[in-house]
Amino acid sequence: MWKGKAGALLRVWGLWPAGVPRRRLLSCDAASQAGNSSPSCWNCGSPGSPGQGDRFFCPQCRALQPPDPTRDYFSLMDCNHSFRVDTTKLQHRYQQLQRLVHPDFFSQKSQIEKEFSEKHSTLVNDAYKTLLAPLSRGLYLLKLRGLQISEGTDYEMDRQFLMEIMEINEKLAEAQSEAAMKEIESIVRAKQKEFTDNVSRAFEQDDFEGAKEILTKMRYFSNVEEKIKLKKIPL
Ligand SMILES: [Zn+2]
Repeated sequence: MWKGKAGALLRVWGLWPAGVPRRRLLSCDAASQAGNSSPSCWNCGSPGSPGQGDRFFCPQCRALQPPDPTRDYFSLMDCNHSFRVDTTKLQHRYQQLQRLVHPDFFSQKSQIEKEFSEKHSTLVNDAYKTLLAPLSRGLYLLKLRGLQISEGTDYEMDRQFLMEIMEINEKLAEAQSEAAMKEIESIVRAKQKEFTDNVSRAFEQDDFEGAKEILTKMRYFSNVEEKIKLKKIPL
């Protein structure tokens, strides 16, 4: 199939640079060999698309395959494409995947498998963290639907909400005691809980614009949470 291992390795590296969609990089003959998205094993050339879905290893030679770039975080973490995730299940899946792909288990393997394991491991970490926190999970769900919240201020926030944020920021700036900090923390926690419930309902009703608005508010509160953390660090 491929002419020698060096050629295979070059091809593998050509196929999988970080962050670039694979489709654009497939050379014609690799594409015709592979079909659209069913690559052969990079090591032994065995067909049957090892590396897709949960087939992390080639069934023939047991070599670790590169991450499947078409797979999203929900699929990787075996979750429904929904805002509601079972965080206990998510955690189990995370541990299960890290037991398969963690670089510690590849220290005696080839350089290429070491690199693949690092890529897998990073991907699993990112997927886990993204799906665990409600804000990043919601933003990721929107992103999968082609909706993004820009960093700028192009989203019109209602005046009442902006006043609320200003007040909390002022309170935080003035807070001098642990009790005052605790009070602000509990306000922020209650707000985030309320937003999480609301955004969950919005996603359930396929109200993505509504979800976007609530997630924007959550992000304001998440900034306040960061400020609280910073203020807690003793100088
Ligand atoms: Zn193989």
